[in-house]
Amino acid sequence: MSQEDKPLHFIRQIISDDVSEGKNEGKVLTRFPPEPNGYLHIGHAKSICLNFGVAKEFGGVTNLRFDDTNPDTENVEYVKSIQEDVKWLGFEWNGEPLFASQYFDKMHQFSIELIKQGKAYVCDLSMDELRAYRGTPTEPGRESPYMGRSIDENIDLFQRMKNGEFPDGSKTLRARIDMASPNMHMRDPALYRIKHSNHYRTGNDWCIYPMYDYAHCLEDSIECITHSICTLEFEVHRPLYDWVLESLDVFPSRQYEFARLNLGYTVMSKRKLLQLAEEGHVSGWDDPRMPTISGLRRRGYTPESIRNFCEVIGVTKFNSLTDIALLEHCVRDHLNKVTHRTMAVLDPIKVVITNYPEGQVEELDAVNNPEDESAGTRKVPFTRELYIERSDFMEDPPRKFFRLGIGREVRFRWAYFLTCHDVVKDAEGEIIEIHCTYDPLTKGGDAPDGRKVKGTIHWVSAEKSITAEVRLYDRLFTVEKPDAGKDKDFKEFLNPDSLQVIEARIEPHLAKVAEPGYRCQFERTGYFCADPDSSPSKLVFNRTVPLRDSWGKVKNK
Ligand code: ATP
Ligand code: MG
Repeated sequence: MSQEDKPLHFIRQIISDDVSEGKNEGKVLTRFPPEPNGYLHIGHAKSICLNFGVAKEFGGVTNLRFDDTNPDTENVEYVKSIQEDVKWLGFEWNGEPLFASQYFDKMHQFSIELIKQGKAYVCDLSMDELRAYRGTPTEPGRESPYMGRSIDENIDLFQRMKNGEFPDGSKTLRARIDMASPNMHMRDPALYRIKHSNHYRTGNDWCIYPMYDYAHCLEDSIECITHSICTLEFEVHRPLYDWVLESLDVFPSRQYEFARLNLGYTVMSKRKLLQLAEEGHVSGWDDPRMPTISGLRRRGYTPESIRNFCEVIGVTKFNSLTDIALLEHCVRDHLNKVTHRTMAVLDPIKVVITNYPEGQVEELDAVNNPEDESAGTRKVPFTRELYIERSDFMEDPPRKFFRLGIGREVRFRWAYFLTCHDVVKDAEGEIIEIHCTYDPLTKGGDAPDGRKVKGTIHWVSAEKSITAEVRLYDRLFTVEKPDAGKDKDFKEFLNPDSLQVIEARIEPHLAKVAEPGYRCQFERTGYFCADPDSSPSKLVFNRTVPLRDSWGKVKNK
């Protein structure tokens, strides 16, 4: 999609207005702020494309900031994978990656300032008591018995919290706002909690850690982020975001919310993805069935197709469920343009051409990509014995079956017209060989007498083809919303048949070109990608997506 065709969604509109009004001197600085507690998923891709996309469009840049304020779940493996994924998606962040933990000192200073202004106090209520005091959406909360502490006492207690004098959970630093506020987030929210944990970057320097709502707005403000774009569930947190920044009179970053991506037949919460990876329901975070960026990459998705998907789904203020068929449509659309075609037989049955000389090998010309002439041609070996798909043959086919059957003539792609006249069966009556004759005058796939055939099928040489392990994937879950069930665990909906491993016969030239990551179309069966497990001695392919495009049938939700 070109720049001009892009729909002017509401975030673009806001930024466009701000720039033309000269707000922030016309500068645009966005950020992508993942917490390094898991691998990125397709939902994050939406946020990445939006943040990096709009900044670039308006001459700005985007910070990559790790929101690492919870030491218990974060680590460097995630930091590394996130950087790799953002780069792979095709985005370049502004300068070095940034870390919220770099700002712990500043955040601590800001808290002291809030205490001095009488806007924060140390509270001794336990987590359970805090919850009880908070009230409900319809009932106001109750004021903390510790709210009346003097500024000096608060400063002293907060210092001692920092010094490690108190156990986890025994005290919090709270904002003093309004326990009767209709917005629960404004009822004296906790700003700091005590946590004697080792942080992967700051080690044991800290035993108090800032809460998300307090930390995030300060991170934005410290970096002078002009437009802090986040998902809709943070809309109710915005008054607190603004309250903190206004109280401290610091750079006034502004928060804007958009609807998160939800995809059918999958889960997107990192906590749930972690369970799938750790409990062995999949082979890891990058299992090709996972909705993670690394899983999609391994499956054969291209960065272009993911970016295009994010463009197509758009940016709105309404939560909805996106059909996975749209994502598949986007990857097909791109792979159709860029991949070479090749022939592979996934479920082989042997064809013997009774009038073809034994031992003869013809190297036939095959077009690599009918969509792209510059992709050229390749040679495909044709021999007396071939393999075709079992499903491309019926002994006694109905009239509408245009593939091979006894007495039927079909085109073998790039080769000849073949007519079947007999089959050989084993003792159980299973067909083991299909006997055909070929018409030598139809070389290349056309008859000089102009006669037509209804079907064209793919094939490989029995003798010259090579074997490959092929991994076929189905949806990871059997229901569209696996995490919607109130009293059911999402794992109860795992699809037991989401992976099928088969042995296929493929064109021999693939042995030379199919490095891990190599993508191609196996004619008529789908787009495939060589897996990192693949080696010259054992090729392994993942099916990215079958060929049939079901998008046409999908209803707009
Ligand atoms: P989880 O709730 O699974 O832990 P998260 O939202 O906490 O995910 P973060 O690492 O905090 O994950 O997310 C980084 C950024 O990506 C945030 O700005 C968040 O709003 C955005 N994001 C996360 N999930 C989605 C999604 N499904 N669609 C769009 N944006 C998302
Ligand atoms: Mg989060």
